[in-house]
Amino acid sequence: MPQRPKIVLVGQLSSFPWVFESAERAGIDLVLVPRGDDSVESAGRAKSVVEVLPLDIDGDPESALSTLVERFRRDPFDGIMPGNEKVVPFVARAARMLGLPGLPEEVAAVVRDKRSMRRLLREAGLGAPGFVSLDGPDRWADALTLRFPVVVKPANGYSSLGVVRVDDKDQLVPAVARTWELCETELRQAGGPADGVGVLVEEYLDGPEVAAESLVHHGRVRVCAIEWKGEMTGPYFEETTVRAPAQLPADVLAAIEAEVIGAHHAFGVTEGATHTELRLIGGVRPVLLEMAARIGGAGVNHYLTHIAGGIDLAAEALRIHLGQEPVCWSQEPVPTGHAAAYSVPVGKGGRIVRVHGLDAVRADPRVDQVVQTVGPGALLRPYPDWAGYPAIVLSHHESDAAAVEFRDHLVRTLHVEYEEES
Ligand code: ADP
Ligand code: CA
Ligand code: CA
Ligand code: CA
Ligand code: CA
Repeated sequence: MPQRPKIVLVGQLSSFPWVFESAERAGIDLVLVPRGDDSVESAGRAKSVVEVLPLDIDGDPESALSTLVERFRRDPFDGIMPGNEKVVPFVARAARMLGLPGLPEEVAAVVRDKRSMRRLLREAGLGAPGFVSLDGPDRWADALTLRFPVVVKPANGYSSLGVVRVDDKDQLVPAVARTWELCETELRQAGGPADGVGVLVEEYLDGPEVAAESLVHHGRVRVCAIEWKGEMTGPYFEETTVRAPAQLPADVLAAIEAEVIGAHHAFGVTEGATHTELRLIGGVRPVLLEMAARIGGAGVNHYLTHIAGGIDLAAEALRIHLGQEPVCWSQEPVPTGHAAAYSVPVGKGGRIVRVHGLDAVRADPRVDQVVQTVGPGALLRPYPDWAGYPAIVLSHHESDAAAVEFRDHLVRTLHVEYEEES
């Protein structure tokens, strides 16, 4: 019998089970590099994880890389895949050094920087909002040429950290100062490029938000699912609810697909799974917000795609990183229903005591999974800062209307209790 293929999965949070389950289904063994905030014990728990390899990618990327190369020489593995946004450039570099499938390093850098994504979209003739890149926290006046409202955001952020809608000049000055500070304290990467820290101001795109999960192999793109994120008007953009498949007319869905495929080509993203976010101007015209060269939501978007698109997204992504063709290239997938993800809002923030109502939700037959990334006593900072989600509920439904009804039920029944301030 041939040996089972083995992939190094970098920085996949162990409390999010889907990628591990997909690997098991696909017969792929994982060497897990735990995320910095994950424990080695919980990292090794999944059946598909046959080895845990701690690397200090954030603190010391050079020795992390040489440890990985040494591990490869001792016992070669067949692929390497990123499990979160921050490690995408590291994984691209490692893949090149080891001769494994992956993204070119320049491309990994492009999709980690919203400035370069904007520039390349424009050059390709694709939609993009007017934007200004600020050279320093005191350069806010450079943004006054834009049409307000605008959005202030880090150039290389995630999870809407530091993303703020600003309606006029008076709000702009404090917003830029605050986002700049969050960039310095939360987003600066050791060993990263000197221009990695930066703040972008861009015109507000008015319309509901959608996301697309795609696979790309040898430059051929397939959009596997389109999700509805709904109307989010700010000033902060905490994501609370995503549903799939998005209930949109066929021509709008086709326009989204075309924009997403065009963006892959514009950025040069040729291998792997991607998560793309777009706004629908006037409810119909898609404009790209950003693309991430990894599975969305640490696997949450795999769940949505698996049900709504009938595609085992994480298994396909693992295959691509092994150099194999995705199964859905040759077998037409069969969607099985509607799916939803609901994040309990952080609200005012503080030291978390518990999330009330979760036991009943766990027992609900519509619910497939409840994940919690922060335990009792953890400090949750309110937006625009961000430190984790109190709980995420994943559920399946017979219709979009039923998913909406269930969301409303969760809004009514789940709430976070924080310690009293003394
Ligand atoms: P992050 O990488 O932190 O997720 P995004 O650029 O995706 O940053 O911004 C987070 C959210 O803020 C988006 O999902 C969207 O809802 C909102 N947002 C960001 N930029 C704009 C914009 N130009 N117009 C409208 N909404 C925006
Ligand atoms: Ca194990
Ligand atoms: Ca985003
Ligand atoms: Ca992002
Ligand atoms: Ca997102």
